[in-house]
Amino acid sequence: MLQEEVKQKLIDIVGETNVLDSEEDLVVYSYDATPNFQAMPDAVVKPRDKYEIQKIVKVCNEHKVPIVPRGSGTNLCAGTCPLEGGIVLLFTYMNNILEIDEDNLTVTVQPGVITLNLIEAVEEKGLFYPPDPSSMKISTIGGNINENSGGLRGLKYGVTRDYVMGLEFVLPNGELIRTGGKLAKDVAGYDFTRLMVGAEGTLGIITEATLKLIPIPETKKTMLALFDSLEGAGEAVSAIISNKIIPATLEFLDQGTLEVVEEFAKIGLPTNVGAVLLIEQDGPLEVVERDIERIVAICEQSHALSVQVAQTPEEGMALTTARRSALSALARKKPTTILEDATVPRSKVAEMVRAINEIAEKYQVEICTFGHAGDGNLHPTCMTDARNEEEIHRVEEAFAEIFAKAIALGGTITGEHGVGVMKSPYLAWKLGEEGVEAMKTLKLAFDPNNIMNPGKMFAKETKKRVVVQR
Ligand SMILES: Cc1cc2nc3c(=O)[nH]c(=O)nc-3n(C[C@H](O)[C@H](O)[C@H](O)COP(=O)(O)OP(=O)(O)OC[C@H]3O[C@@H](n4cnc5c(N)ncnc54)[C@H](O)[C@@H]3O)c2cc1C
Repeated sequence: MLQEEVKQKLIDIVGETNVLDSEEDLVVYSYDATPNFQAMPDAVVKPRDKYEIQKIVKVCNEHKVPIVPRGSGTNLCAGTCPLEGGIVLLFTYMNNILEIDEDNLTVTVQPGVITLNLIEAVEEKGLFYPPDPSSMKISTIGGNINENSGGLRGLKYGVTRDYVMGLEFVLPNGELIRTGGKLAKDVAGYDFTRLMVGAEGTLGIITEATLKLIPIPETKKTMLALFDSLEGAGEAVSAIISNKIIPATLEFLDQGTLEVVEEFAKIGLPTNVGAVLLIEQDGPLEVVERDIERIVAICEQSHALSVQVAQTPEEGMALTTARRSALSALARKKPTTILEDATVPRSKVAEMVRAINEIAEKYQVEICTFGHAGDGNLHPTCMTDARNEEEIHRVEEAFAEIFAKAIALGGTITGEHGVGVMKSPYLAWKLGEEGVEAMKTLKLAFDPNNIMNPGKMFAKETKKRVVVQR
């Protein structure tokens, strides 16, 4: 519970109705989209603007009260689970698009803007904000920046990081600073903008962001290629890229995922093939037509069972929407769904998926895999039941081995979901103990009282490394 003095100070800043601490309110903010993690905050606070945030942070820093910034709580790494209590800070009032600058091709937003609202607002002006996490209907820009989220368009257009030009944020001591801006070139000082992207709320609170826009592609076409095996699909992915074609989207779904997605979306996806590639190209009409023609030929040379090009934009949209619904579709199967994002170089996708299947078999757990084949970002997804302790133990062992394998193949433990609590015991596997220590030193310099999202990123103990043969 918050000390009465602290609670009163917070009420003086934001008003009584914006400090919630009833049991019901606290339970709602005790968990996020990550299964198996729950901890109660002491209060939930809703500031109206950056000045209120500054004052809140000063109070919390003085009294050493943890602050957990929270967008929509859709992260998959327990990043907004208030492990050490304190306050959950919401941005529900700070959800305005402040400016769309058509001369400089930028948009400036508050952190609580919903990603899809931003995408649609700029599209109305013929502009394009490419980062498109599948959660974009609910996720916020503040959350996207702090997780450095990616999406289906990541292969060609990059991830959130590639669009963040400038930030305004409140430091853990309550001071407000601005970094970057509308400039394409700016090398004045350390690149704090980049540092804050993916910081998972551990270094400060983002109160405003200036994001890069690009002209909206003239047209797009979507196609589906069916393969009897993942190897075939993997071969086609390598062949497309080595032919110097970068599709806007290059996704794959394995047979298990296909079955579940079709049962959910009912759009006629094949369920009796080994793997499917969902491919989209965008750009000027003649380029799109030429690229799609070449991709069809490459898939056929890679022994695709069949290749279908969507005949209408609606048909194309149905295919990408079905892919975006993969997690929700899989989540219907069992009480607990654990979705991970082990990532490997794209040339290793088929090998990694094969390894995931072998590991699932070894630990007798049910894992389907889909993901961004073009950038090697895979989503092995386990359907399980958290109430079954013995099974959950096997699931954890299986995922540890999956992360170890990803690293052995030159990959990483997380491509887009972040570290949070979930991946923190594995961070040293990727960065080494020295790397984690350097990060801790940086964190201490920013946040000596460790008030910003404590318990995230840095685990008390590193997991023992599983030995995986390359
Ligand atoms: C169905 C589903 C599909 C998903 N698909 C994708 C996908 O395709 N790609 C992908 O990358 N991720 C995906 N995710 C994960 C998740 O949606 C993203 O991580 C997203 O960016 C989180 O946004 P959010 O607003 O919910 O942030 P939250 O979950 O609320 O917060 C995420 C992190 O940001 C911090 N934070 C939030 N706002 C601020 C702020 N203003 N200042 C400082 N720190 C802040 C939080 O403390 C936390 O550490 C998916 C999740 C679900 C449930």
